[in-house]
Amino acid sequence: MNGSVHMDQELLKEVKKLRARVAKLEREREQALAHGQQELESLRQTQPLDNTFSVDERHAALEAVFDTIEDALVVYTPSGDIIRANRAFYRLLNIEQPLEYIQQPIEVRSQLIHMCDEHGEPMPEESWPVRRVLRGEVLANGDVADIIFMTMDGRQIHADVSGAPMLDSAGNITGAVLALHDVTLRKQQEQFHVEETRRMDEFLSIASHELRTPMTTINGNIQLAKRRVKGLSLPDGGPAGYEDKLTLILELLSRAERQVRIQNRLVGDLLDVSRIQANRLELNVVDCDLAEITREAVEDQRFAVPNRTILLHDVPADVALPIQADADRISQVVTNFLTNALKYSAADRVVEVQIELQGKFARVSVRDEGPGLSAQNQVHLWERFYRVPGIEIQSGSGMGLGLGLYICHTIIALHQGQIGVDSKVGEGSTFWFRLPLA
Ligand code: ADP
Repeated sequence: MNGSVHMDQELLKEVKKLRARVAKLEREREQALAHGQQELESLRQTQPLDNTFSVDERHAALEAVFDTIEDALVVYTPSGDIIRANRAFYRLLNIEQPLEYIQQPIEVRSQLIHMCDEHGEPMPEESWPVRRVLRGEVLANGDVADIIFMTMDGRQIHADVSGAPMLDSAGNITGAVLALHDVTLRKQQEQFHVEETRRMDEFLSIASHELRTPMTTINGNIQLAKRRVKGLSLPDGGPAGYEDKLTLILELLSRAERQVRIQNRLVGDLLDVSRIQANRLELNVVDCDLAEITREAVEDQRFAVPNRTILLHDVPADVALPIQADADRISQVVTNFLTNALKYSAADRVVEVQIELQGKFARVSVRDEGPGLSAQNQVHLWERFYRVPGIEIQSGSGMGLGLGLYICHTIIALHQGQIGVDSKVGEGSTFWFRLPLA
């Protein structure tokens, strides 16, 4: 007996609550309708001349716009119930029964979609975008909400939510409009990019180490062997043919040394290109002097290919060309110009290097008497893997992958400098670059 009285009271309470809720919904719907009417009224007044369309037609047009918009749009009552949503919204959440869905109270709806922040952490109710907007916040431009939620078929959606409260003429909040922009794909791509970059960094550090270490060892062994062989020569010249054999061995070792140098350079180029592609070419910028860098690079080449003539037109001794640069990288550019000039011109041709002060710039150019380049080829030279058809290596044992000039171009661009070539077919080429003085 007591039990059923208790039950009845419970039921009664529930019914009361429900009635109150229905009444509240009714009030809010009326408010929203009134608001809509007001909007229409003001539309009518601001466009008094436009009497081509009836109110109904305009209403239909607005409906059509609402449903055609790609972003999900939702209109809320002040308590967070959904008045209506557009097709994109139902599509985004994969909601098959729109009416059923929007009739659920906000707590149930947000449980269905597992509302989380951008890190995937569940969001407290006061942070939900709809709650923020219903408190009067505007979510727009730089200040959109970044949320992750679950669709009805269990997919995770990452969305930017913008929104604004609806206000009546007295400034009271009569509801909210939210727009959800699906950024899932972009976020996945960003994630992919982060992962890709991490793997690239890992590859670069392993590759640099694993490819270079053996060559350093080989080079070290060649040097050691050369010294030992030199130590084998006898005061009296030894038995017949003995000295010739030693000379031959030394010659073979020198050849191996050159090959290792070439391989080192090719591996270096490949690693540099990987770094450039991954935006990982880092400069170690210091105060240095372009004239000095160039002189050293010239000296190195004179030493490496003693049979070639490299003329240097230097600046006067009292002129400094201070630059802020990664000295090793700039030296790499000069060396690349030089090795190209040497390998693409005949062994009996000179190569000329000029260092100049040009106003606020320091300029280096390398001139050769090689085949020269057509205007069309000059454009493509700086591209990755591009090698001019028909231009053969004239001298030396160098080989090319078509990467050197691409790397030079990148290095000079990273230094805010300019790089270029002046050339005509049959008249040799002058490769140059210039850098702003510090
Ligand atoms: P590579 O390692 O093949 O020399 P580069 O990027 O340094 O690559 O040069 C690209 C191409 O430009 C070369 O393959 C060659 O065809 C052409 N080239 C470069 N320098 C010269 C030069 N001084 N004279 C003529 N052709 C050149």
